[in-house]
Amino acid sequence: MTTYARFPLTLVKGAGCKVWDDAGKEYLDFVAGIATCTLGHAHPALVKTVTEQIQTLHHVSNLYYIPQQGDLATWLVNHSCADRVFFCNSGAEANEGAIKLARKYAHTVLNIANPVIITAQASFHGRTLATITATGQPKYQKNFDPLVPGFAYVNYNDIADLEATIAELDKDERQVAAILLEPLQGEGGVRPGEFAYFQRVREICNEKGILLIFDEVQVGMGRTGNLWGHQTLGIEPDMFTSAKGLAGGIPIGAMLCKSFCDVFQPGDHASTFGGNPLACAAALTVCQTIEGDHLLANAQARGSQLRAGLKEIPNQYAGLVKEVRGWGLINGLQIEADSPITAPDIVKAAITEGLLLVPAGPKVVRFVPPLIVSSEEIDQALAAINRALATLL
Ligand SMILES: *Cc1c(COP(=O)(O)O)cnc(C)c1O
Repeated sequence: MTTYARFPLTLVKGAGCKVWDDAGKEYLDFVAGIATCTLGHAHPALVKTVTEQIQTLHHVSNLYYIPQQGDLATWLVNHSCADRVFFCNSGAEANEGAIKLARKYAHTVLNIANPVIITAQASFHGRTLATITATGQPKYQKNFDPLVPGFAYVNYNDIADLEATIAELDKDERQVAAILLEPLQGEGGVRPGEFAYFQRVREICNEKGILLIFDEVQVGMGRTGNLWGHQTLGIEPDMFTSAKGLAGGIPIGAMLCKSFCDVFQPGDHASTFGGNPLACAAALTVCQTIEGDHLLANAQARGSQLRAGLKEIPNQYAGLVKEVRGWGLINGLQIEADSPITAPDIVKAAITEGLLLVPAGPKVVRFVPPLIVSSEEIDQALAAINRALATLL
């Protein structure tokens, strides 16, 4: 179906941070499958794990115990504030699980008859019906109504709006059950959460006994330079979701929570493919490689290098670049609103210069390379983006 407006490019091979098209042209991949190929392409450890696992046992069903699933859950619990994990196959599916768990918690623990989950404007939580409803962007919802009831929206990083919205919703009867936010809004334009805002969000959730859920699908698994985006904000959520980078490009999703809010019982939720031996073995290798190869430190250092280089652009191209922002290896270049140049224009020009980038909305270019990216590759990308901008002006 014609659901994708594709760039005129066919990729056939990859190694590390490089990919090649069907004509043999080489590109530096600063998209990484949209923040997914954590270890780049054809990483030897991932190749070995996936090859060995598919030769041994790749899928069995959750009717049985799966050692790789237990090992991955143990690693994730030991490296996060969560106590429990449910595995699925994508970000949207992980968020669906979080929404279901929050609703069951609301009904069975909080005694809320009509639970509402508050989400942010300009957020992105996936493409299923519940997650496009959670997504505070009308363009993803248009013509798909009726949407799922039980969501309300607030301005991101705006504490007054959050307090007013909760007060309004709870006026007649208690309704608000949870707040679902991204630590940094990815698709919505690479907009980092503000430290003070999130401190207050955590306090509000504690005061009201409601759940704080983080969508870490894009920023989790080391992308921010911390393993989880919420560490950058100095707070712990009650639940959070992961997917994109978790198995480095093998499909997987995870919904994690603290034990107090794990109200699921056998039969409440399930997934045929979720947590199969292949995906879990791949994810465990990604986790161990992030740790063993010090990829968090690399994400921090390479991210600083990239932002410093991008911040030199405004001097050369006054009137084009408004702001450079991000954490670790998720960074955005905001284009001035009145510039005729759009993010897709820059992405297309960069393709010609051998650099793959991805828009995050019409006026933001996103840089999300693999976490293994080298200092030389950051310099090459900066040179390519400068060449690309020069062709547009
Ligand atoms: C990509 C993304 C999703 C959706 O993930 P899928 O695997 O495409 O379903 C959800 N939330 C955030 C923050 C994302 O970036």
